[in-house]
Amino acid sequence: MSRSWDEWREKMVKGQLIARGITDSRVLAAFRKIPRHRFVEPRLAAHAYEDHPLEIGFGQTISQPFMVAYMLQALGLVGGERVLEVGTGSGYETALLASLAQEIFSCERIPELAASAEKILKELGIANVSLRVGDGSRGWPEEAPFDAIIVSCAAPQVPQTLMDELSVGGRLGIPIGDASAQDFVLVERTAQGLKSKQLGGCVFVPLVGEAGFR
Ligand code: SAM
Repeated sequence: MSRSWDEWREKMVKGQLIARGITDSRVLAAFRKIPRHRFVEPRLAAHAYEDHPLEIGFGQTISQPFMVAYMLQALGLVGGERVLEVGTGSGYETALLASLAQEIFSCERIPELAASAEKILKELGIANVSLRVGDGSRGWPEEAPFDAIIVSCAAPQVPQTLMDELSVGGRLGIPIGDASAQDFVLVERTAQGLKSKQLGGCVFVPLVGEAGFR
């Protein structure tokens, strides 16, 4: 008998996330809840819970589940946060964020991806997300500051604009490196200033824009 989507998600959570050290119960609950197969083309739905990225068109990808979980866990969200996401992509991570925090502002540079994400989020009844099309490396000044910022594409350095939009106590997660390999960097704004740490290697598609790869 074939597995149900719930069973595939449970297998992903146990085999890919818990087995590799994801312990945040809220992050695990979000991965159990959000139907990842809805965020990929129907022809790829059967692969949605596998341990790798998948193409979403326009040369972009929905990231490997573990990488998304790792980044979300690093943000340490507890539920009341306002979050900026740069790189909506399929909208999957946006949906996870929407169940982990209070209000999500997500920016995508490719209009077709933003439109598709908006449609799926609406179909799923996810209402605490504002989407916009544009260069997310310029931040979202009208809604700043943010308690957390997550950039799901790779930048050559941490954009100053995004650090400026972080509230005190806020955290910014971003892959930093060249176009082929990066380190996942976590920047935290404390009352004394900014501090950052490297949390490990990763490979993301490039941030394209003013503070990215042009
Ligand atoms: N987290 C997404 C998901 O769950 O599907 C995957 C994001 S994908 C790895 C990175 C996305 O960042 C792509 O959709 C790309 O178009 C977008 N992107 C790249 N540069 C950008 C920029 N300057 N502003 C906004 N989005 C950008």
